[in-house]
Amino acid sequence: MDGTNPGMPVRHDWKLPEIEALFDLPFMDLLARAHAVHAAHHDPNAVQVSTLLSIKTGGCPEDCAYCPQAQRYHTGVEAQKLMDVDAVVARARAAKAAGASRFCMGAAWRGPKDRDIPKVAAMIREVKALGLETCATLGLLGEGHAQQLKDAGLDYYNHNLDTSPDFYGEIIHTREFEDRLDTLEDIRAAGLKTCCGGIVGMGETRAQRAGLLQALANLPEHPQSVPINMLVRVAGTPLEHAEDLDPFEFVRTIAVARIVMPRSVVRLSAGRQQMSDELQALCFFAGAGSIFMGEKLLTTGNPDVEHDRALFRRLDLHPMQVGGETPDAGTLHADILEACPHLA
Ligand code: SF4
Repeated sequence: MDGTNPGMPVRHDWKLPEIEALFDLPFMDLLARAHAVHAAHHDPNAVQVSTLLSIKTGGCPEDCAYCPQAQRYHTGVEAQKLMDVDAVVARARAAKAAGASRFCMGAAWRGPKDRDIPKVAAMIREVKALGLETCATLGLLGEGHAQQLKDAGLDYYNHNLDTSPDFYGEIIHTREFEDRLDTLEDIRAAGLKTCCGGIVGMGETRAQRAGLLQALANLPEHPQSVPINMLVRVAGTPLEHAEDLDPFEFVRTIAVARIVMPRSVVRLSAGRQQMSDELQALCFFAGAGSIFMGEKLLTTGNPDVEHDRALFRRLDLHPMQVGGETPDAGTLHADILEACPHLA
C-alpha cells in the first residue's frame, strides 16, 4: 500500500523502522512519492490559508523550551490577560467582513481553568453566531472542558504533540507526553476535529523526527490538520542557540508526514517567514497544503501578505475553498505565532 489509492483505509500501525526508511529514501524519490500521495488525496495546486487571534498572550507557567510566551523566559513578550468577549467578537466580525470562514482563538495557558471556560464558550458562541467556523488552542483540557467547548459551537481544537515521546522530556518538564494524548482523546470523544503536529529543529535526531510522525500517524484518528513547525529561535529561550536544521531535512519531514497521513492537511507553520520562496515551493510539492498568512491580513498593502499572494501567483496556487466556503482569514500576532507552535 503506497498511499496513492484514496479508497484504501489509512494506516494506524506504522513501525518506526518503516518511517525511518521513508526518511532515508533518495530525496527525489521521496518527493516523487509524497507528491503522488498528495495529488491522490488533495488538489496539489490548492493551499488552505489560516490565521488566528491570540486571545490571551504571554505569562504562561509552562516551560516549553522553544516558546517566547513562557513566563520564566525573558523574551520581551508582554503578558496580556484574556481578552473581553466583545473585543474578540469585534475582531471576528471584521474577519468575516473580509471574507473569513474560520476564526481561530489561541490562549497561552497550561490549560484553561474551570472559571475560564464560560468566557471562552461565550466567545465561541458569538463567533459561531456570526456564521464562522471556530477553532481554539487553549492547552491541556480538564474534565468536561472539551464537551463544553463543543456544546458552545467549537469545530476544531489545536493541540500539538510537539516532538517524539523519547525527546519530550528534553523540551518540556512541566507536563508529560501522555498529558497531551489524554487531551487529544477528550477532543475526539467530544466530536471535535483535531489539529495536531509538532516542531522540528530543536536538536532532535532523525529517528526522533520519525518518532513524532509515528506518534501522530498512530493516533486512533489522523488529525484533520497536521502543522509541521520549524523552530524559530527566540533570544531568551533555552533553544535560542539550537543548531540549524538542514532545510532539505525539513522538506523530508513534510514529505514523510504526507505519506503516513495521506488524508490530513499538512500545514507549513511556524518558521515559514524565514524560508525562501524556493524552499516553500519544495514544501508545497512535498505535500504541504496549508499555511498561516501574515499579520494584518485584513488590511491591504501588508508586505508579507502581498509577498505570499505573489508567491501563490508565481506557483499557480490558489487558496483552498474549505467545504465550499471562502478561505480562512482573521488577525494574529504574527511575531508570537511565528515562534510559538502552541498557536500554530
Ligand atoms: S507553547 Fe503553549 S504551553 Fe508551552 S509555554 Fe508556550 S504558550 Fe505555554
